Amino acid sequence: MRPHRAFAPKLEPLLTLTGREAHHLADVLRARPGDAVTVFDGEGLEGRAVVRSVEDGVVELEVTETWPASREVPVPVVLYVALLKGDKLADVVRAATELGAIKIIPLVCVHSVAKEMGEGKLLRLRRVALEAAKQSERTTIPEVLAPIPLSAIPPVEQGLVAHPGGTLRVRDILELSRPVAIATGPEGGFSEDEMQILLERGFTPVTLGRRILRAETAPLALLSLVTAGEGV
Ligand code: SAM
Repeated sequence: MRPHRAFAPKLEPLLTLTGREAHHLADVLRARPGDAVTVFDGEGLEGRAVVRSVEDGVVELEVTETWPASREVPVPVVLYVALLKGDKLADVVRAATELGAIKIIPLVCVHSVAKEMGEGKLLRLRRVALEAAKQSERTTIPEVLAPIPLSAIPPVEQGLVAHPGGTLRVRDILELSRPVAIATGPEGGFSEDEMQILLERGFTPVTLGRRILRAETAPLALLSLVTAGEGV
């Protein structure tokens, strides 16, 4: 079995984990003194550690070795995803983390059912990203930002927007030597004005096939074509 993974923002020789991270190791994964653990700082450093003690919600680890590690996509992939109703964004964040997105930015769109996100939900999405990063053995934890209006998207170097009217295929235009930004719309799709803004910011419409995908399926389909499908 692969060692459990624990996150610590700074990998020092002796680590004292408290809060959720300690709870997860001690109570969920049942880590005990002597167990091997892989630690990572979310910024590309990974290490080997041994559990020294587990007591009263505190886990102490001895880090024996660290090394720079990366299982990251060679270029930054930023996901702009329309705000979705209910808990659907949590599933998108989980899978987008597994698929290698470096930043996830929810968009407020004209045809979104949801128009805002509370602080509690944003914090939960960040925890989902952390857990998914651990589970998928990423070395970086993707940032999940607070929602922005679609008009606040900056110009991008290489943008792909999933659009049911698109005819271009991702594999025919993707250049994995340049940063990629991808965008997917809400339940009601992007409005014409929003599509115009996206075109002006450097996004090219692409197809995800002949069927209409749900707003929570489209980001994962598009991201898969950019990362998993390219083997990165
Ligand atoms: N009636 C809406 C429209 O025409 O845009 C459908 C919206 S769809 C439920 C939600 C989002 O998923 C779309 O805005 C688009 O970004 C993406 N999408 C769904 N199916 C797609 C497809 N076949 N090709 C490209 N993008 C698609």
